[in-house]
Amino acid sequence: MILYSTNNKDLRVPFKEGVFNSLPIDKGLYMPVNIPVLGPEFIADLHKYSLPEIAFRVSKAILNDAIPEADLKAIIDDAINFDAPVVELSDQINVLELFHGPSLAFKDFGARFMSRVMSYFLKEGEKQLDVLVATSGDTGGAVALGFLGVPNVRVTILFPRGKVSLIQELQLTTNGQNIRAIEIDGTFDDCQALVKRAFNDPELKEKFRLTSANSINISRLIPQTFYYFYAYAQIQRKGSREVVFSVPSGNFGNIGAGLLAWKMGLPVKQFIAATNINDTVPEFLRTGIYQAKPSVQTWSNAMDVGDPSNWVRIMDLFKGDDANLKKLLIAYSFTDEETLNAIEKVYSEQHYIMCPHTAIAWLASKQWLNDHPNETAELVFLSTAHPCKFPDIFSKEIAAKIEVPVQVQELEGRERLAVSLDRDFEGFKNYLLGS
Ligand SMILES: *Cc1c(COP(=O)(O)O)cnc(C)c1O
Repeated sequence: MILYSTNNKDLRVPFKEGVFNSLPIDKGLYMPVNIPVLGPEFIADLHKYSLPEIAFRVSKAILNDAIPEADLKAIIDDAINFDAPVVELSDQINVLELFHGPSLAFKDFGARFMSRVMSYFLKEGEKQLDVLVATSGDTGGAVALGFLGVPNVRVTILFPRGKVSLIQELQLTTNGQNIRAIEIDGTFDDCQALVKRAFNDPELKEKFRLTSANSINISRLIPQTFYYFYAYAQIQRKGSREVVFSVPSGNFGNIGAGLLAWKMGLPVKQFIAATNINDTVPEFLRTGIYQAKPSVQTWSNAMDVGDPSNWVRIMDLFKGDDANLKKLLIAYSFTDEETLNAIEKVYSEQHYIMCPHTAIAWLASKQWLNDHPNETAELVFLSTAHPCKFPDIFSKEIAAKIEVPVQVQELEGRERLAVSLDRDFEGFKNYLLGS
């Protein structure tokens, strides 16, 4: 598998290099030179396959010979070891639950696959890989848990003290093994600044093999295609073949993977990008003008993005084919008030509790059905996180009804371990050098 940079089609690297470097030197994003199309028989037979079987076939097609079959199969079976069920909520409306992994969010798919691919490419005897991550809460948990126990990799995770939720703090600080947590007396931006400086520090670069396991890493995008195929398989089992996906979107990696799955032959009728009031993409689709904006804080804060980093990948997939992009992709945006009302309504009518990100995708599904009254397609909206991760936004009544998943119960009794540092770089550097 060969990758090119979205800034320069001639800047090409093997898959392995894209995995370790995340970003091309020209600051584009990596995309596959060849996007294989999976045949109609595979699509027609999808309902026969399990999620790991689908994941294996899809990744084998796109990775080509980058990882031999038996090794790829072992990576998939280890990484994709939790379910992604489609649950029918009401007539024509279904939810694809992507929160059954260890960190209770869909980012587990990307993080678990990436970590195992990195570990695979590290040859025996090679220097240990040091992953440095700054987190405001959510991504850090997926990355930490994704790398937990993965050989020859150590993860150092920086989070702002007192500024992550209780569950997030447990996910970050109770792992032990190859994961260590540092709480910084500062903000998320301070954490990020420390990590950035570490990557540019000659002494640290000399001593350690540092990587950021960045969210735009190509090896995080690929595994996110798996669950689109698997959701389609489950809709097939219900006897339908027409699917519309509604995807709660921030950096547009999730929906970008859906569009990649479509390119690979998945017959999707339409994709809906569902955003909060950070509506750069809905505005672009309306006006034709892409205008990045500063992000605005909302209840669905994992989607508070004013300049989505994966948008260039989507533009690249549809280069010169604007008409097709506009046919396939539509977008709706919703306010916090609409989000909270949606959570209440779905709880009272369907007894189903949605996290705020998921609620926005539900709203977009309803809107789509309103705008397309004669369509018979099945709507599948993606649930990106378990509601228990956002305890502050629910009414007392709903909060009391949220089941605490085993992943959280297991964490509760564990010892929390975090090194406390202030936001001064020398202190952080000395800590790393001494370790
Ligand atoms: C990251 C995240 C999103 C946004 O996904 P993108 O791939 O950035 O569009 C939505 N919901 C939750 C819960 C997330 O953690």
